[in-house]
Amino acid sequence: MRPAELYGKFVNPQWTKLLDVLQMNVDYVRCQGGELFTEDGKRLLDFNAGYCTHNVGHNHPAVIAALKAELDRHGPAMLQSHVSDLAGVLAERLCELSGGRLARAYFASSGSEGVETVIKFARSYTRRPGILYAERGFHGLTTGALSLMSNTFWKEGFGPFLPETESVPFGDLRALDRKLETKKFAAFVLEPIPGEGGVLVPRAEYLPAAEELCRKHGTLFALDEVQTGLHRTGPFLAAHHFGVTPDMVVLAKALSGGLVPVGAVLMSEAISDAVYSSVRRAFVHTSTYSENALAMRAGLATLDVLEREGLAKRSAAGGERFRERLRDRLAGFEMVGEVRGLGQLTGVEFRTPASLTIRVAFEAFARIHPGMFGQIVVMRMFQRGVLCQICGNNFMVLKLAPPLAATDAQCDEVVEALREVVVQMHSSPGFWAEALGLAKRVLV
Ligand code: PLP
Repeated sequence: MRPAELYGKFVNPQWTKLLDVLQMNVDYVRCQGGELFTEDGKRLLDFNAGYCTHNVGHNHPAVIAALKAELDRHGPAMLQSHVSDLAGVLAERLCELSGGRLARAYFASSGSEGVETVIKFARSYTRRPGILYAERGFHGLTTGALSLMSNTFWKEGFGPFLPETESVPFGDLRALDRKLETKKFAAFVLEPIPGEGGVLVPRAEYLPAAEELCRKHGTLFALDEVQTGLHRTGPFLAAHHFGVTPDMVVLAKALSGGLVPVGAVLMSEAISDAVYSSVRRAFVHTSTYSENALAMRAGLATLDVLEREGLAKRSAAGGERFRERLRDRLAGFEMVGEVRGLGQLTGVEFRTPASLTIRVAFEAFARIHPGMFGQIVVMRMFQRGVLCQICGNNFMVLKLAPPLAATDAQCDEVVEALREVVVQMHSSPGFWAEALGLAKRVLV
C-alpha cells in the first residue's frame, strides 16, 4: 500500500475521501517559500499557509539551519528538571515585541493548549469561574477551547462543555457590557480579527471600547492571536492596529516557522504570579513538550527572519495592494461581496446571487450542504494552481493568507485565477452541474 493509502486505512479514511473527491489528494515532494511542488510536476502557490502557520514561508533555510544546529548541540531536552535558557530568551523577545502589559510567557505546544492556559490562568487570577467569548471565533478543538466556540459544527457530539462559558456577538458592545456587569467572567476571549469567522475587521472603536469595559468590570481582556500574530496583519500583533493592551495574548502556528509544534501565552506578571504563587506551585501548570529546545530555537530563528526580511512592512504593503487588485478585477460580479482584511490576511466574501438562473443553482447547492459552495471554489482554485481555503466558521468567505513575503506577481496570479473561477460561476451552467454532482458524492 502507498503511504497515503495507509493513512486512509489506519488514520482517517474520511479525510482521504474528501481530498480525493475534491481532487486535492496530491503528493507534495517539495515546499519552499510560497510554492508547493507535486510529484506529477505541478507547482502550486500556497495562499493558505497552513492557516497562517507559514508566515516566513515553507522550510525557511534559516529556521532549518537553526534546528540542525540545535540538534547537533546535543543540549538538554525535556529534562523537566532544568531551567530552559532558550525559553527565557524567546520570552523576553516576545514580550518586547508585544509590549503593553505583556511581561511573562507560558510556552505550550499548540494554540488550543494556549487557550486552555488562558482559561486556567484567568480563573486563578480573578477567582471568577466564567469565561466570555465572542461568537464566530475559532479557538481550537480541545474541550476547553471548543467551549469558547459558537459554531455547532465543531461541537456536535462532543459535549458537555465547560460550564460558565457564554458568548456575545463579535462587535456588540452593548451585549458585552450587559454580560460583564454580572461580574462572573474571568476573561473575555476573542480574536481581534476573527479569521475563520470570515476575516472580520472590527470598526476602529470596538476593541478599545471592549478593553475598557473589561477593565471596568474586572474581566481580563484576552486576545487569541494564533492567526493574526507574528506580523500576519502588518504589526507584530493585530492588537497594535487598534491601540489595545491586552492582559493575555495567545500565539502559536507561525511562531516556530511552521516546523515545530509551539504555542505561547503572553501575560502580565500579576497573572503569572497568581498561578505560580509559591515554590510549592512552581510547576502547577506545565506540559512535557512546553519549552522544548527545538520549538524555542525555531521561534528565535523565526523572529530573526521576520525582522531581517522586513516582513512587517511587506505584509502590510503587499496585502493592501493585493486587496486593491482583487477589488478591481472582481468588481461588477454579483456574487462577489466585500474584499476585506489587513496585511496578508484577506477575505473575499461571496453573496447569494440575485439573478434567477444562478440563484436557483446556488440555493439547490446550499440545501445540500452550506459549506459545499466554498469547497467547490477551493477545488477550482486548486485546479488553477492555488491552494487556499474557505473560512471554517463562515462558508461564504474565501480566506487568502500567503506567506508574508508573497510577491506582487504571485498575488496577481492568484487574482487572475480567482477571476476565472468567478467568471465561470456567473456564466457556466457546467460549473453548477459539476458542483452539484460533487456535492452529492461527498455526502454519500
Ligand atoms: N486559535 C485560532 C485563531 C486558530 O486559528 C487555531 C487553529 O486553527 C487555534 C486557536 C488552535 O490552534 P491549534 O490548532 O494549534 O491547537
